[in-house]
Amino acid sequence: MPSMQQQDFTPWLNWIDSQYEQMLARTIELSHINSGSFNPAGVNKVGLQLLEYAKVLDAKVEILPVAPFKHIDNQGKLQEFPMGNAVRLTKRPEAKLQIFFCGHLDTVFPLDSDFQQTQWLDDETLNGPGVADLKGGLIVMLKAIEALERSPYAANIGWEILFNPDEEIGSQGSAGFISEAAKRVHLGMIYEPSFPDGNFAGERKGSGNFSIITRGKAAHAGREHHLGRNAVRAMCDFISALDDLNGKRTGVTINPALIEGGGANNIVPDLCLSRFNIRLEKPEDEQWCLDNIQQILDEINQRDGLSIEMHGHFGRKPKLLSAANLKLFQLACDCGSELGLNLTWLPTGGCCDGNNLAEAGIPNIDTLGVQGGKIHSSDEYLKVKSLTVRAKLSALMLMKLATSDDLNWLISDKPV
Ligand SMILES: [Zn+2]
Repeated sequence: MPSMQQQDFTPWLNWIDSQYEQMLARTIELSHINSGSFNPAGVNKVGLQLLEYAKVLDAKVEILPVAPFKHIDNQGKLQEFPMGNAVRLTKRPEAKLQIFFCGHLDTVFPLDSDFQQTQWLDDETLNGPGVADLKGGLIVMLKAIEALERSPYAANIGWEILFNPDEEIGSQGSAGFISEAAKRVHLGMIYEPSFPDGNFAGERKGSGNFSIITRGKAAHAGREHHLGRNAVRAMCDFISALDDLNGKRTGVTINPALIEGGGANNIVPDLCLSRFNIRLEKPEDEQWCLDNIQQILDEINQRDGLSIEMHGHFGRKPKLLSAANLKLFQLACDCGSELGLNLTWLPTGGCCDGNNLAEAGIPNIDTLGVQGGKIHSSDEYLKVKSLTVRAKLSALMLMKLATSDDLNWLISDKPV
C-alpha cells in the first residue's frame, strides 16, 4: 500500500451520517421517475434532477447528446431509437490526480412497466425500480464527492462525472465519452450496486451481442415446395452449430437467445432472425469465436438460394485486473475495514462500463454503489442503511488519495 499520512477524517464521515434522510428521499424521488433506456424524456428528467442535487459541487456542466441506439428488428431491418442525453460535470482539471466518476441514468424498466413505485419490504429494505441499479448509487456518488469538497483535501483532486443514458443496453452511444475520459483520468469509480454482501466485482467477462438473419425463397408448401428455400431450416442449422461451440474453449459461453421467423403453415419461410450473446474471459477469445462462427456462416452461404448475415460486435472487452487496479481494490478494502466493513473482490460473468474503462487502461472499481439485489426484476431492493455506509467508503477513499504522498502507482505513466 502507498503510505498515507495520518489524518483524522471523521468529521467529514460523520457529516455523511447526518445526510441519511436526504439521501433516502432523493433515491426515492429518482426511483419514481421512469427512466427506461428507451424513454429519453424520463432519462433526461433524471439527469436534470441530478444537476439540481449537484449544484452544491459548483462544477462545469455539459449536456452531451448521444447517438441513437441502432437495432436490427425482427424483419431484419435497421431501426434507430433516440436516447436521452449524457451529462458531464468537471472540476479542477488542473489537479495532479484526476478521478472519473460514472453512473447510468437509465433502468431496464420501460415506460409501460408495472414497476414504477417504491415500497418498504421491512424497516431496512426498500423495493423500487432502480433503487439499487443505479439510482441509489448516483446519490452515494454525489454525497461522497460533496464530503470531499467540504473537506480541506479537495484541492488535491480534480474530477469529472459522467451520467450516461444507455448503460442497460450496452452503452453503445456513450462508450465514446468513457474512452475520451480515460485519456484524462488516472482512476475510475463507478456506482453499480455491490454484491448483496457488499463485496466488489473484480474481473469481469467480456460480452458480445449479435443478430443473425437468414434469407431464403418463399414458395407454396404444397404446389411448389421444391422451389422454396427454407430460411428457418438454415437458421436452425446455424444455431445448432453455434451452440456446439459451447465447451470447446475454457471461459467462453454462447447463448442462442431468440429465434423468430416464418409464418403461415403453407408457405416455405423466406426470412428468419435470431439473436445470441457470447461471454468470454480473455481478449484473444474474441478472434476464436469470430473465426469459428465465420466457418458456419460460410457453409450456409454456399447453399443454393440461401443467404445468412451477421450483425453485432463485442461491445465489452473482458475486464482484467492490472497491478494498479489490484492496489485500488486493496485501498477500498482497507478503507472498508476502517469503517468496520469486511470487504473483498470476486470475479463475475456480468459486465458494465468498468469493462470499457479497464480496456482503456484505467484502474477502476465499478461496484461502489449501494448494497441491494434482485436487480433487473420487480423484486429489486436497496438496503437503505448502505446509502451512508457506501458514501463514507467512497469519501474515505477520496480523502486518503488526496492526502497520500505516494501516488506513483497511479500517475507515473500519465502526464496531466
Ligand atoms: Zn446498472
